[in-house]
Order: sequence, then C-alpha cells, then structure tokens
Amino acid sequence: MTIPRSFSDRLTRERRARLRAERLYEQVQYELRQANERLREHAFCLSDQVIAQREELSAIRDHAETLEGRNTQVAQDLQIAHDVADLASARLREAVETLNDGFAVFDRDDKMILANRAYLGVFRDFPEVQPGIAYRRVIEICAYEELVELGDQTPDTWVRAMQTRWATPEIPPVELHFRHGISVRMADRRVANGDVVSLVHNITDALRYQRELIEAQEKAEAAAEAKSAFLANMSHEIRTPMNGVVGMAELLSETTLDPDQRACVETICTSGSALVQIINDILDFSKMEAGRTQLHLEPFDLEKLIHDVLRLLAPTARAQGIELILDHDMFLPVSLVGDAVRLRQVLTNLVGNALKFTETGYVLVRAVGIGASDSGHVVNLTVEDTGIGIARQDQELIFSAFSQVEQTANRRFEGTGLGLAITKRIVTDMGGKIWVESEPGVGSCFGISLDLPEDTRNPGGTQVMPDLGIGRALVISDHLISREILSRRLSACAVTVSTATTREVALRSISNTRPDLVLVDQDLSDTLVSDLLAAIHRTAPGLAVVMLCSDTAEAREALADGMLRAALPKPLLWRDLLRVLLPDQGPSPPDVPETPPAMTPTPARQLRVLYAEDNRTNRMVFARMLAAFDLNLQFAEDGAQAVEAFAQFAPDIVFMDVSMPQMDGREATRRIRALPGGETVPIIALTAHALQDEIERIMAAGMNAMLTKPLSKEELLRVLHEHIPEGLALPPKG
Ligand code: ADP
Repeated sequence: MTIPRSFSDRLTRERRARLRAERLYEQVQYELRQANERLREHAFCLSDQVIAQREELSAIRDHAETLEGRNTQVAQDLQIAHDVADLASARLREAVETLNDGFAVFDRDDKMILANRAYLGVFRDFPEVQPGIAYRRVIEICAYEELVELGDQTPDTWVRAMQTRWATPEIPPVELHFRHGISVRMADRRVANGDVVSLVHNITDALRYQRELIEAQEKAEAAAEAKSAFLANMSHEIRTPMNGVVGMAELLSETTLDPDQRACVETICTSGSALVQIINDILDFSKMEAGRTQLHLEPFDLEKLIHDVLRLLAPTARAQGIELILDHDMFLPVSLVGDAVRLRQVLTNLVGNALKFTETGYVLVRAVGIGASDSGHVVNLTVEDTGIGIARQDQELIFSAFSQVEQTANRRFEGTGLGLAITKRIVTDMGGKIWVESEPGVGSCFGISLDLPEDTRNPGGTQVMPDLGIGRALVISDHLISREILSRRLSACAVTVSTATTREVALRSISNTRPDLVLVDQDLSDTLVSDLLAAIHRTAPGLAVVMLCSDTAEAREALADGMLRAALPKPLLWRDLLRVLLPDQGPSPPDVPETPPAMTPTPARQLRVLYAEDNRTNRMVFARMLAAFDLNLQFAEDGAQAVEAFAQFAPDIVFMDVSMPQMDGREATRRIRALPGGETVPIIALTAHALQDEIERIMAAGMNAMLTKPLSKEELLRVLHEHIPEGLALPPKG
C-alpha cells in the first residue's frame, strides 16, 4: 500500500512537529529543571539567611533579655541603695537627735545646714534659729538677747570675739554659760569641704562635780590640817603631864627606895617611855599619811649610827640575855650621805622589834656594801634575829599600818603595829627597798637596801686596817658569830687569831702560847668573867686584856685592879679598839669608864639659868633635876616675862618652852636676840612637838639646841654642859 504523499508529508510534518515539540518540551524541561535548581539553591540560600537571621535575632533577643535583667538588677540595687541611704540618714538623724550634746553643721557661707533638738533647744523662744540662719545671727541672739553670761564683756565685744574665733582655721574650744543654768563647751571643727561641724557638749554636770570635788578636797585638806593640828596639840597636851610623870619618877628613882618601891618607880618610867613612844609613832604616821615628811640629807658615819642604835638598845638586850652583834663591812666609806635621823629611826624600830620578838639567841645587824651606784654605794642593812619568826602569809601584811601577827601573840608583845608601816614609808621615801625573810620558830631577817651617796667632802675614806703591832690575839666568847666577826677583822690587820669558848680552853690556850692581846666577852655562860680575868692575870701577868661589855660600869673594878687594859661597849665599834691599841689614832672612846674628871677650878660666880615655862609641874621637875647643882635658877611664866627677866637677870643660859600663852618661845627668842647680850646667849628650846618640821621651825627661830619633853635629866645635863659659857661650871652643891 502506498501511503499518499500528503499523508506521509503530513506524518512527517507531524513527526517533525512532534520532534520539535519533544525537543521543546525537553528544552522546557531542562530550563524548568535549571530554574528549579536555581530556585532550590535560592531557597537554600534563603533558608540559610533565615536561619542566620533567626540566630542573630535570637542572640539579639538574648542580649536584650540580659540587658533587661541587668537593668532590673541595677534598678533593684538602686532601690536597695536608696533604702540603705534612707535608713542610714534616718539613723543618723535619730542619733544626732538623741544626743544630749548639741550638734549643728554650717556651710562654707556660715549658714546653718542642720541642727539637732539639743542645739536648737536653748533657742526655743527664737524660731528664726533653724537651718538657713547665719552663724553670726545665732551668736548675736546669744549676746543681745542675754542668753549667755558675758562676764565683763559688752555684747559687741563678745560677738566680735566669737566671730574672730569662728574665722580661725583651727577654731579653739570655748565655754559658754547660759543664764538658765546650762554650761556648754563648744568644739567647732572645719571639715574638708569648708563646712563647720559644731559640737556643743553639755558640761553642767561635769562642772558641778568639779565644784563638789574641789569643795570635798578643800574639806579633806581642812580635815587633815585639823587632824595634824589636833595630833600636835594632843601630843603637846599628853607630853606636858608626861613630863611631870616621867621626870618625877626619874627623880624618885634617885632617892632611897625599898625593892618594891623601886620596881614601882621603874614601871612608871618604862610605861611613861612606852607611852611617849606610842605618841611619837602615831604622830609620825599621821604626818607621813599627810605626806608632810621631808628628808634631810647630811653626811653621817653609818657604822657609828648603827652602833649608837645598838648601844641604846643594849640594856634591853642584856636584860633579856640576848647577844647584840654588829657586822660592818670594813670596805664601806666612813662617811655617807643620807637622812641619819630617819635611818636611825628605821634601825631602832627593826632592832627593837627583833629584841621584842626574840627570847633567846642573838640579834645581828649587818651592813654590807653591795656595789657602787651612779651616785654612791648600794648598802644592804639586815637585822637578823633568832626569835619567834613570821609565817609566810603574814610577811606582807606586817608592813601595813596597825597590823600585827595574831592577836594572842600581840597580847604578849606590846606595840601599835605602826612601826613597820613607818619604817617602810621612810625606806621608800629614801628610794630604798625593804623585805623580810622569816621562818616561824627559827627567826626573822629584815633587810633594807639603800643607795647612799658618798660624802664628797671626804671621798674614798674607808676604815683603815693598820698594823696593830700584835702578832697573836685570843678571842674568848660564847658566840660563834661574834668570834667570827672579830677574827675576820683582826686577821685583816695581820693578826693571828685563836678562839676559845670556855674558861678552861682559854686558860690552856694562854699558857700554851701567850697571845699579845685577849678580847674577852663580858657575858660568858660557863664562868664569871671576873674569875676568868683573875685567872688570866695569874697565868699571864701584864697581858693586854680588853673586855667587851654590855655594861661597862661592871668593869670598873677590874679596870681599877689593872686586870683590864680597857672595857669597850658591845657590840664592838672597831675604831674604839683601834684607839685602845693605837692611842695615837685619836681620843679614847667615850664609853670607856673614865677616871673622874680633874677638878675644875672653882668658877668666879654661880651659873645663872633662866627657864621660861608656863606649866608649874614642868618648872618643878626642872628645878628638881638641877637641885643637886649649885646654880642660880630663875623662872619666867611666859614669853614676855622671859624677855623682861633676860634684861634684868642677864642669864648665862636660857631654857625656853616653845608653846606658852601670850608670847610663845619663838617670839621671845627673837626679842631676846635683839637685846644687848642676847645675840650670843645660848637658848635651848623645850618642846613637846617632837616632829621634824617643828624642830626646824624652832631652830630657825634662833635657838641653839632643843630638848623634847618629857625631859630626861641625862639629856638636860648633857645640853647644859655643852652650852655652859667658858669660865663657868656646874659644880655640885657643897
Ligand atoms: P609593833 O611591833 O608595834 O606591833 P610593827 O609594825 O613594828 O608593830 O610590827 C608589826 C608586827 O610584825 C608585829 O606586831 C609582829 O607581829 C611582827 N614582827 C615585826 N618584827 C618581827 C620580828 N623581828 N619577829 C617576829 N615578828 C615580828
């Protein structure tokens, strides 16, 4: 079959058309795919962008949220800060308001910024005084409205002065006294920004306390004055009759008495002395309490001072059978500087106590140089006893006033309990120390340590250790310590020393090797010393024997019999022995009983003595004490009479009571000194005031010496002898 052409053409055309269409389709498909591809890429790209943008958005949102959080925090913090600040400022306001003191702040233009109620309170009638007001106006109100006491200033000058004060960089404080009774102290301070902070301190109470305190102090001082005056008067009042009691008892003891009467008289004497001692203690203590004691420094000989104290107490020691021993450091300077009177008082008290509280044994006083100090020598003085001792718990206590160990003990031992308090006070005033070491039943050792300057007028002077010209010495004594001390001293002078404690050993030693010197203790327990002396005399005739005595009077006979070279008081003062062994060294010791003094030539006339005294008993005691002497005695009953009597009687010596009615002894002395012959006449004060400052006042009035009441005959005669003008004497009545 043939396909018509047209048909075939048509087919061809159609096929072509289809092919074209297919190609077109493919083309379109391709382009579509391309477009899709691009679209997808674009979509991807877009989605990436979207994601990125979303992330960015999210970050931004996060950031925004963070910022918002922070913002909230800041806002909260701010709120808290505000609250805190409000609280603080409220507290500050409250605090400032509750202050009793006024508080205000002024700015640099002197305008008040704030002020509390207390500040504004004084201006309550002046409402203009409030923040905003000028400082000047405030002080003007104070001045012109008469709020403040201006003293002798006018309001204008006061305001000017307050303005000037305010203008200074360091504003000085000022006290204001408001008329309604309040007193304030204003302290104004300029701060860094130019403001002035004003603090007004209410000192009304403080001033009142101060006034009360001053009044109380004045009252206390007046009371102390009155107490001192009372004590001085009491002392005078008690001593005056005591003068009668003790003086008369002393005179009575010189008469013939049976043993009972003598015992009674002696009791009156000792009780009288004890009473005087108690008065002295109380007076001394109250003076010290009032801080009225003063030290009087002078050169003194320490060994002599201790020796004097021991000599004074030697009779007591002897009566008790207690050995008194002195051990003085031979390397200490002879002359030191200190208050000798007070030191004597200290030692008297310590040694007195040691004797009081010791029944058997010894009391040893040692002076030891501990070393040189800046100004002199540190000296330790110890007083050691073998007495009852003091329990440890009481050792601190006893240095307080009025304290005594256990009452039962004190009933046995008399005393005021003031001695150690006074002693401690004196030692402390001297810059020294005091201590005690003690064991009950064994004994006590009281020590004081003092820094004593050396006497510059006599520097470096220590005790000499000369060649005694003696090869051997024998020391006979029961007491180990005494033997040791003597041996040590003698050995230092190149003497060979042997010792003996009994008569037998002593005599054997002497007959074996005859010594050049024997030192024998008067109080030997195994023999009567007079027997021993006789035996020594028989064994070794002509041997130099020196007796150490607690009572030199008992040695008179042995001295007279030539059995003794000398009798020296115990404890031995080394220089006394030197004077005996080396007579060229100086005058013989005063305590060696001397042969009666050579007869003094009969004086041309009687000694004229004037005694001014208002108290009749005292005049009587005085007259009786001098009754045994041939003298012309006249009395005056007050100062004025004394001056008159002086002019008429022309006495050779005047005894002048210090306290007399009308004109006292000081005034009378001054007047006598102004009369012809009055400048040179010895005037001896008699006083019942035994205190140091009183003594000084008396001596300053021109007296030559002073005697304290109760008067002792011995003292009276000593002073009389010392002051009798040349060519006159005090002969006993014929
Ligand atoms: P007083 O001796 O007047 O009582 P003190 O003040 O001198 O007063 O002494 C106080 C006390 O210390 C004494 O009462 C005594 O108890 C004690 N005492 C002092 N010295 C001694 C001593 N050497 N041995 C024992 N006791 C002492």
